[in-house]
Amino acid sequence: MHRPSKNKSQNKKGDAGLGTRGVWAGEKGKRWERATQIPVALSVSFGYDDVDEWLKVAQGETQGHIYSRNTNPTVAAFEEKVRDLEMAEAVTSFSSGMGAISNTLFALLSPGDRIVSIKDTYGGTNKLFIEFLPRFGIKVALCDTNDHKAIEAAIGRGCKVVYLESPTNPTVKVVDLGRLAAAAHRHGAVVIVDNTLATPINQQPVKLGADLVIHSATKFLGGHADALGGVVCGAADLVARIYHFREITGACLDPMAAYLLLRGMKTLHLRIARQNESALKIARFLESHRHVTRVFYPGLESHEHHEIARKQMRGFGGVLSFALKGGFDAVKSFLPRLRYAHLAANLGAVETVAGPPATTSHVESTQEERAAAGIPEALIRYSVGIEDCEDLMADLRNALEKVVPAKRRPNS
Ligand SMILES: *Cc1c(COP(=O)(O)O)cnc(C)c1O
Repeated sequence: MHRPSKNKSQNKKGDAGLGTRGVWAGEKGKRWERATQIPVALSVSFGYDDVDEWLKVAQGETQGHIYSRNTNPTVAAFEEKVRDLEMAEAVTSFSSGMGAISNTLFALLSPGDRIVSIKDTYGGTNKLFIEFLPRFGIKVALCDTNDHKAIEAAIGRGCKVVYLESPTNPTVKVVDLGRLAAAAHRHGAVVIVDNTLATPINQQPVKLGADLVIHSATKFLGGHADALGGVVCGAADLVARIYHFREITGACLDPMAAYLLLRGMKTLHLRIARQNESALKIARFLESHRHVTRVFYPGLESHEHHEIARKQMRGFGGVLSFALKGGFDAVKSFLPRLRYAHLAANLGAVETVAGPPATTSHVESTQEERAAAGIPEALIRYSVGIEDCEDLMADLRNALEKVVPAKRRPNS
């Protein structure tokens, strides 16, 4: 059969930098009629004049494509770019980040198995843990994200999979990936890391011990909020099982979306460098503002796990969150005053995006579930775009000044 993209040689020392690889990786041999850009292969199937050749491709003896639910050349170019940047052995892709996460978990877990994770995973992932996996007889242990000892103890009680996310969304918590991967491996568990917020520019989980790395490519990888997609990369035997599951469930990435994501990835390193820099400046500015009660950003010295973040990340990412004085009323009055931010549910775009968790990361969760996850009512998630940082800070300053302080409002 046709197989997921795989490259056993991996990336060796002396390879080009991440910026160069973001531009060039995955494109070799995929051009058409000398076009310098990857073609969008909008073709459901691939035809063979020779039945023997067709059979060889079908049996995996020769490289080639048969049907786009399984593999497609544009999709393969995108997959290979991600695999290269994550320094993984193999890769496969999905119609969305949640497609990647759900297919991976259902491919690897069976009734009676146990999975250990954290309370702060992405809202949709958390829904899989509390609503869907238990329905299939899978036991789920969700630990306090900040309590590494508790996570290690839960792993020690035995599990098939350890599922981590760092930084988390929206309170931008950081978990020690190397430490927890080592604990998982001592007990024979597979380690999965959702690397959406960090991107391979800031953090490469494979190097820290992860067996599988997942992305919602919809976010920073694509970077332009115009295409949904998901990726899983890592150990070849695991990726082959996940790919096989996806061939049948059919959550495949569309070639047009793959092209847009691939094009976005060419500027990933530039975007992330700018977003890292601006987010840190903005986090520092917000921390000193009198209308802001708390700022969550791993680059701040005040962040609970700043040291872990410094150890495992090259940059602290483009997402931060902050809580306003004055509760949800203040959030409602503040957000529409921002001139340079889409009030929307996505993150990781070239434009700044802002919103409360109730309509963004945790739109799938109830108010009780959000409170249980320790998400403040007056929290705003702010995904820094590539605009001039001075303009973003002036915009925030202006909107903050106009928020009616809580003490001046009646009944509060
Ligand atoms: C958005 C997101 C997802 C889900 O991705 P979709 O492409 O929206 O399905 C998963 N994990 C994280 C961290 C995300 O931000």
